[in-house]
Amino acid sequence: MNDHSSLLSPDTLAQAATLLAHDEPLPGGPVVPPIYQTSLFTFASFAEMADTFAGRRRQPIYSRGDNPTVMEFESRIAALEGAEAARAFSSGMGAISATILAFVGAGERMVAVRHVYGDAYRLFERLLPHLGITVDYVDGSDAAAVAAALPGARLLYLENPCSMIFELQEIALLARMARAQGIVTAIDNSWATPLFQKPITHGVDLVLHSASKYLGGHSDTVAGIVAGSAEHIARINARTFPYLGAKLSPFEAWLLLRGLRTLPLRLAHHMKSALAIAERLRGHPAVERVMHPAYSNHPGKATLTGFSGLFSFEVAEAIDVPAFIDALRLFRIGVSWGGHESLVVPALASLQQTPDVNSFSRFGVSPRTIRLHIGVEDTEDLWADLTQALDRARR
Ligand SMILES: *Cc1c(COP(=O)(O)O)cnc(C)c1O
Repeated sequence: MNDHSSLLSPDTLAQAATLLAHDEPLPGGPVVPPIYQTSLFTFASFAEMADTFAGRRRQPIYSRGDNPTVMEFESRIAALEGAEAARAFSSGMGAISATILAFVGAGERMVAVRHVYGDAYRLFERLLPHLGITVDYVDGSDAAAVAAALPGARLLYLENPCSMIFELQEIALLARMARAQGIVTAIDNSWATPLFQKPITHGVDLVLHSASKYLGGHSDTVAGIVAGSAEHIARINARTFPYLGAKLSPFEAWLLLRGLRTLPLRLAHHMKSALAIAERLRGHPAVERVMHPAYSNHPGKATLTGFSGLFSFEVAEAIDVPAFIDALRLFRIGVSWGGHESLVVPALASLQQTPDVNSFSRFGVSPRTIRLHIGVEDTEDLWADLTQALDRARR
């Protein structure tokens, strides 16, 4: 059994735990900050309004822009990522689209790693061409291929590890190559969370999250966020955020603040339980291979200080995939991940989604690939469920 426990540096989790559990004292002493469920904020005078509009003072004006509950979530993520600023959105896709459109325009080109999150890929294929933006896909694990694609691009889009097959990229090297050519780098960091990968400390400019996954952690919220330098976030604020209008609601920001307090505890459990299950799957005769970054020798692993609970594996020919999925009792069949509950997604089903624009089929993901999210249920119960389902699905 591989021992990855040394990776779980007590410092990484402990510092984050204090940051996330501790709220600044508020008047009256509530231990949890209030929800500012208001659409607008009024001014005491003409001068206050005029000064605020002129940018001489900052106060929330209207909740499509600033809202104190949302700003609290933004400042926590900025602190965790080591970023100067962050902007929250009503979904991860809201953050991804507003970020790309703030940095790439008509007649320009971006480079993206293949196997990006499915809806990001569909955004690149279905909308960006209509706006005159070209996207070139590269195998992000091959730094030379990325180097060859970079000249002339405006943006490099990474996801380490990437969706479904969890290929790694050497983000520090790729960000350095991009920066040398004045190209902005963005990364989708939803898988690792800022606890297990801090891309800004490795030279990446912009960090994106689907907060619907681990940051919220309870499968009850859809949200997103982008973190980066004050200058880059100011550009998003000036060009896209207020006008595309995908703002986060105060209540959902409050749910995210609640979820964040237990992020270090949850991730420690997801990591341990997923590694235990991945290790047993590797030894199971009905499993061909396990795609979990822990088993990779790629240098892209170096920026991960821990592993979350999402990975995939390929079943042997002898396993009937639909029968295996239907035999599972604890793993529920569904998209998304990062919550309390264990989930399964068979590539065989997701390959049916939008066959015209499907990164998985286009870039050769085997239909025998099964993605698991390991929730917080008992590891032994989850393992028993997987083995009974594999037994029943043998042809
Ligand atoms: C879910 C997901 C997204 C999109 O986020 P939404 O909150 O669903 O809009 C982006 N990237 C990854 C890796 C995801 O899993």
